[in-house]
Order: sequence, then C-alpha cells, then structure tokens
Amino acid sequence: MKKLTGKEVQDLDQQYVMHSWSKQGATHIPVEKAEGIYFWDYDGKRYADMSSLLVCTNLGHNNRAIVEAIKEQADKMCFMAPAYASEPKSLLAKKILDISEDNMGRVFFTNGGAESNENAIKMARMFTGRNKIFSRYRSYHGATLGAGNASGDWRRFAAEIGGANGFVKFIDPYTYKDGFEDGEDEKASAYYLKLLEDQLHYEGPYNVAAIILESITGANGVLIPPKGYMEGVRELCDKYGIMLICDEVMAGFGRTGKMFGFQHFNIKPDLVTFAKGVTCGYVQLGGVVVSKEIAKFFENEPLLCGLTYSGHTLACAAGVASVDYYLENKICEHVEKVGKVLADFLDEMVEKHPCVGQARHIGLFSALEIVKNKETREPMVPYGVANTIMPSIMAELKKRGFSTFGRENNINICPPLTITEEELKEHLPILDEVLTWVDETYL
Ligand code: PLP
Repeated sequence: MKKLTGKEVQDLDQQYVMHSWSKQGATHIPVEKAEGIYFWDYDGKRYADMSSLLVCTNLGHNNRAIVEAIKEQADKMCFMAPAYASEPKSLLAKKILDISEDNMGRVFFTNGGAESNENAIKMARMFTGRNKIFSRYRSYHGATLGAGNASGDWRRFAAEIGGANGFVKFIDPYTYKDGFEDGEDEKASAYYLKLLEDQLHYEGPYNVAAIILESITGANGVLIPPKGYMEGVRELCDKYGIMLICDEVMAGFGRTGKMFGFQHFNIKPDLVTFAKGVTCGYVQLGGVVVSKEIAKFFENEPLLCGLTYSGHTLACAAGVASVDYYLENKICEHVEKVGKVLADFLDEMVEKHPCVGQARHIGLFSALEIVKNKETREPMVPYGVANTIMPSIMAELKKRGFSTFGRENNINICPPLTITEEELKEHLPILDEVLTWVDETYL
C-alpha cells in the first residue's frame, strides 16, 4: 500500500470521508500507530487513550494475544458463511454462555452494538407477539432504525424521521439531576419505578414486548442505578410478561469490574446484547445472548434474523482470544484494584473544583459532571444545547495528550482495562490541570 504522509491522510479524509454525528469538512487528527494505552499521530505526538476510544479497546491497543489469534485465523480461513459451523464461532458462543447467567441458552452474532439491539428487539417482539419497546431518554442503543428509535439521546432524531412504531421513552434514574442525596437509594428507586409502572399502565403492559436499558448508562453520563432499581424493573417485567433486554455494549466485558454490568445487581435478564469489548474492536463483532426459554421458542419457530457476516470467522477468533485474555489475566480483579485509584482521584476532584458537581464511577467506567453551580446542580451545558464549552474542554485535554470524550456536561474517563496504577497516576493530573482551567474560564 502507498505510504502517505500525515498531511495527505488528513487532506484525503477531509475531502472524501463522511464522519459521524457532525457537520462534514472538519479536520481530523491522522493517527499512525497505537500500543497499550497510547496512540500516536504522524508528528509523533503521543495521546493517552483515556476513553478506550469509544469505550471498546478494553484490552489496550495492539494486544499481542488478539493480534496473533487474528493472524493465525486469517492464514487458515478468514470467513465462512453463517449457515456453516466454524471453530471460532462455536467456541466463542460457548465461552460467552460460560460467563453468562445460568438461565441463558444461545448466542446470535452480529457486527456491532446497533445490530445487536436491533435483533434483540425483533426477537423480543417475535417471542412475545407484542409490539411496544420501552427505553430511557438518557440512553444510546445504536444508530440503525430500530436501535436508533430505542435510543434516548438526540442521536435518535434522524431515525425518528418517518418513524418506526411502538417505541416509548421513560425517565432514567438520574438521581443527581433530580435532587436525591447519597443514602436515598430506596426512596429514589421507589420514585422512578412508580413512574415506570404508571407509564406501563397508560401504554397497556400487555402491548409491551421489552424494556431495554443499559445496566449502567454509558455515553449519557455513567449513571449508576440506585440500589433496588434494577431488581424493581425485573419485577415489573415478570409481573407483566415483558422481556428485559440489558444492553451491555459499553458496560460489558470487564468495564465495571464484572464481566457484565448487570451482574452488580440481583437480576437475570432475558436478553443481553454485547459488542465493543468482546473483540476490543480489533475486528467488529456483536451479539445477543438469549434465555433458554427464548432459545427453545426458536427451535419451533424460524428465527427471522440474518446477516451475511453473522459469526464472522475472523471476528470470532478475535473474540475467543479476548475472552480468554479477560479470564486468564483476571482483568475484572485488576479493574477493581485500579478502579479504586481512579475513584479516589475523581472524588478528590469534586472536593477541589467548583466546576465538578459529581463523580460517578464503577470499575474503570466513570464520568465527571461539570456544573455552573454546585449548590443548585445547574449543569454547565443545559440539555440539548450545543455550545463550545465541552468541545473546548476536550480540546484542552487533547492538547496535553489526554484523549477522551464528553457529552452534554459530562467528561467520560474510561481507560483501557489493562492500564496500570502508574499510568493512571501519570495522566490523571492533566485532568486536574484542565479542571482548574474550566474553573477559571467558565465560572
Ligand atoms: N449500545 C450502547 C450502550 C452503546 O454505547 C453503543 C455505542 O456506543 C451502541 C449500543 C451502538 O454500538 P455500535 O456503534 O457498535 O452500533
């Protein structure tokens, strides 16, 4: 392949590539290589990847175990059609079921998160014979038509043009915004569950096929549900015969210190969707894990779901190597340990900076909520308003070699799960420095 300069890569990109969720024509940093928690641009500038890109490179960049597994499989067979069995696909399905709850029965493979949710929604509708899908406002489930309509944040708006029917939104347990204090979990859970049950009644619970939710909301601010909330949602699902779909696309695969985010709660979902961390993005892959009951249903009914690349051989080989790596290297235990270092630092930021309203963290999944006023909890950027504040904060971080993303008034910090304590301690002071800049610039 022709070797281009960084400038040539950037110019071609600017002229010909369409970029997600933005107006076209902006310049984008050309990235030449990546290793561990770092990537480098063509001028040799190093960036610490403090968001695991889009919370997917969980095992770091260029992890040799995954790279070698891909190479080995590529030499043997890159792709076999879904109708055939292949060793990586069979093995990965078994490994995913081994780390799932004991009520789960089979896996349907997709190419990513949106397709996983799209197919989970179809399966729940086929299984229940019902139409409506309940999801939350502060959520993201993907950009395709069904997943886009299930999504709650503004990224759903284009999917809603012309519409897809049966999608109903409900209110998230965003306890900080709604004024709840620490220690008020029970009260908060009861409040949000009552709202949900009321809404189910207005919609007719017998019309509702599924409630889909991120066990721990990711891109919309790492919202950790209050104690009892997830168990309460499960109870409502049981009461009304509704399927519970846990979207583990971002929270899954060790991110929170457990293999799946819902495992922090005392629940068993009916369907679990995953992507991202299953291969760390080295080759794109997603999937839906379904309960034994749903799996049995589709032994007698045709599964009207299909994708040319379902169970892609190379992707599944990357998946097998990734799952093995998580387990053999005890990644969840490591996340719990280094997660404490991150948590202590973020809690300190709340004490130190007037602009930090709350720190939310679980494992290496975290966000800082940036506020204008700590007393009133008024967000620095009101919901739905696009201004330059958050992009400027991200740019200040990036200038100092700290790469991450933020949405609304949240800064997400979700480094690769392989990050060491020393690496964390080396890069977190940059965030501290930029928060001082935010205090001085915007308050
Ligand atoms: N679900 C969640 C929770 C996500 O965070 C994302 C993407 O960020 C998706 C689904 C969509 O995944 P994909 O971009 O692979 O379609």
